[in-house]
Amino acid sequence: MDYPGNLFVVAAPSGAGKSSLVKALMELDSHVQPTVSHTTRAPRGQEKHGREYFFASAQEFDAMVLADAFVEWAHVHGQRYGTSKKMIEDRMAQGADVVLEIDYQGALQIKKMYANAVLIFILPPSWEELRSRLERRGEDAPEIIELRLQNAAVEMAQAKEFDFVIINEVFDRALFDLKAVVHAQRLKYHVQRRARPDTFQALKMA
Ligand code: 5GP
Repeated sequence: MDYPGNLFVVAAPSGAGKSSLVKALMELDSHVQPTVSHTTRAPRGQEKHGREYFFASAQEFDAMVLADAFVEWAHVHGQRYGTSKKMIEDRMAQGADVVLEIDYQGALQIKKMYANAVLIFILPPSWEELRSRLERRGEDAPEIIELRLQNAAVEMAQAKEFDFVIINEVFDRALFDLKAVVHAQRLKYHVQRRARPDTFQALKMA
């Protein structure tokens, strides 16, 4: 399926710094827009329905799955998460560059559906650093941290399926890399041609 905007999908094990990087990217580049996923997990802290997520009951989520309302959905850390078809297609139809911050299973489903999607995997620089970031975050009990680290090994084994890998050792360097990927995508022939039809026409390349 073709679409006017670009579609970026960012996945990472928890603690790799994915959310902070995507947030910083969106602050620098207003053309990049997020979608809001649905989840069966409960809101945490200051999270608001419709802002971080649409919080849904298991029954509501089931109903959306049955109605084929998701482009992808997956079980992550014991909960279900999904990207609504309508939201992603509305955003893309407006010509926005959409960034999905989802898990690797969702990312691989998206690539099957949208062959032009750009898959970006964020890695931590080491196991020690990943563990210490999870501990410093102070959000999770020790057994949850162990679970997240075990899951991280499974998730990182999938990085080879992604188009780009960014190692988040120094935040600013990783942000530079993320911006570079977004920029490079915008310079691809078919993307430039779509974005600058007048120039191509004037150059008699249309
Ligand atoms: P959290 O509950 O910490 O916000 O997110 C847990 C994991 O679920 C993260 O890896 C996050 O990227 C992933 N996730 C969030 N939304 C979606 C979604 O719509 N689909 C999929 N497949 N994963 C998601």
